[in-house]
Amino acid sequence: MTLIKCPECGHKVPEHAISCPKCGCLLARERRGDDEPPEAKDPGLRGLSLFLWFLLFLAIPFAAVILSSSLYYAWREKYPKCAGQINMLGFVVFGIHCVAAFAL
Ligand SMILES: [Zn+2]
Repeated sequence: MTLIKCPECGHKVPEHAISCPKCGCLLARERRGDDEPPEAKDPGLRGLSLFLWFLLFLAIPFAAVILSSSLYYAWREKYPKCAGQINMLGFVVFGIHCVAAFAL
């Protein structure tokens, strides 16, 4: 049995204990898997999903900017990384459309 030190009183408690038997403080946060790094919740858009959004935006000129802005506002609270990416993607595609419009 592995013993860990209570962060409050320093009492040795079993690793799987939920609270310290001496001072009663909760040790739950010491257990693995409880606090996920923020990266796990918001890994950002990667690879294929980013490419699919790019294709979708490319397929709908002008509406892409509106859609990407809407998604940005919808996502920025929960998924700031995804929101930033989708916003940038919208403007990149807008830029491509502008260049294409001038070229034709
Ligand atoms: Zn304690």
